[in-house]
Amino acid sequence: MKRIALLGSTGSIGRQTLEVVASQPDKFEVVVLTAQSNVNLLIEQALAFRPKYVVIGQENLYAQVKEVLNNQNIHVLAGQEALCEVVQIPEVEIVLTALVGYAGLKPTLKAITAGKHIALANKETLVVAGDLITNLLKKHKVQLYPVDSEHSAIFQCLVGEENNPIEKIILTASGGPFRGKTKQELAHVTKAQALKHPNWSMGAKITIDSASLMNKGLEVIEAKWLFNLQPEQIEVIVHPQSIIHSIVQFEDGSMKAQMGLPDMKLPIQYALSYPERYRTTFPRFDFGKYPALTFEQPDTETFRNLALAFEALKQGGNMPCILNAANEVAVQAFLEDKISFLEMPDLIEQCMQALPYIAQPSYEDYVNSDEQARRMMQELFMKPVKF
Ligand code: NAD
Ligand code: MG
Repeated sequence: MKRIALLGSTGSIGRQTLEVVASQPDKFEVVVLTAQSNVNLLIEQALAFRPKYVVIGQENLYAQVKEVLNNQNIHVLAGQEALCEVVQIPEVEIVLTALVGYAGLKPTLKAITAGKHIALANKETLVVAGDLITNLLKKHKVQLYPVDSEHSAIFQCLVGEENNPIEKIILTASGGPFRGKTKQELAHVTKAQALKHPNWSMGAKITIDSASLMNKGLEVIEAKWLFNLQPEQIEVIVHPQSIIHSIVQFEDGSMKAQMGLPDMKLPIQYALSYPERYRTTFPRFDFGKYPALTFEQPDTETFRNLALAFEALKQGGNMPCILNAANEVAVQAFLEDKISFLEMPDLIEQCMQALPYIAQPSYEDYVNSDEQARRMMQELFMKPVKF
């Protein structure tokens, strides 16, 4: 029985994780559930899965959750600091980080320090502070299992290849809803259009990131830290069907790919079951429905976020942290109709150019860079760029 703390249980990954847990009742058990504001779903999940602890992020919602769960022998806590506490309780073996954005960093650092294994969906954590995370993992001898489908694919391709160096990896990208569009066409796209992903149903932030190719940019940086790669060893190829989830090329030229229908339950379960594979009833791939798997180069002139992420990766230091914070603010502003789709990369780039570069940041430097980038983005909105 693997005992799991699930951070962000009401989100897309969180709900699918609970489907996996429910489908393997003799393998997995959740001992912690957390959510930011969706009180009703959090309570429903707590009553169904009977965790020991529940955390509601927004403190003003604490009373509402407590009232229902008080008599159920479930401890209720509130606030961001509570996330850092619950990941450390002795019952927890593995923490699945399915919360979105920079908020995942601190609880993940605390969990690793407490010797808990990590199943990482929250890619922003590795983007912001990949060096801190990887150093801590070594120090505390804990494992980090990728949940992101591309990284799970690479991880699966590497099983049994421990002594064989990687020549390069090729991350596949669906291309999102705007694949093939020109800059002129992108100038007026709406958030409703951006939120319609062709292959995956996900939370709002990652769906916008997928439309702008920032998601692939964040994944490139995530891959660097997970697999200890140089920027030149990471390539991106657009594969609109999302069947090949990513590819590893070895030094003899041989390539290994991992395939399957686009269903996040597969990588979620593997991150929890590794090195075993548990039988599932998820739908199977049907060749008849996919007569052609196709590939094309990403258009980084139109979708500049991917180029910006490669730039941040090459610069290293606090630059990926600045990129991430600027992007989080840009995506939120786009979702609130405050800026256009093409203003996102423009503002992120201005932020990257303006803020002080730190080659070897400490945790405090990351916190400061994140704050500075958020503040600068707010200032930039006051004088929006015209297209
Ligand atoms: P989501 O928006 O659907 O869910 C986010 C969850 O985090 C919710 O439970 C929410 O209550 C919680 N949350 C939000 N803000 C928080 C905060 N400040 N503090 C604490 N909790 C907070 O997001 P998602 O699509 O499930 O994505 C979660 C993470 O997984 C992201 O980092 C994303 O990049 C990554 N990921 C998602 C998918 C996917 O298919 N959805 C695939 C790969 C990776
Ligand atoms: Mg992915």
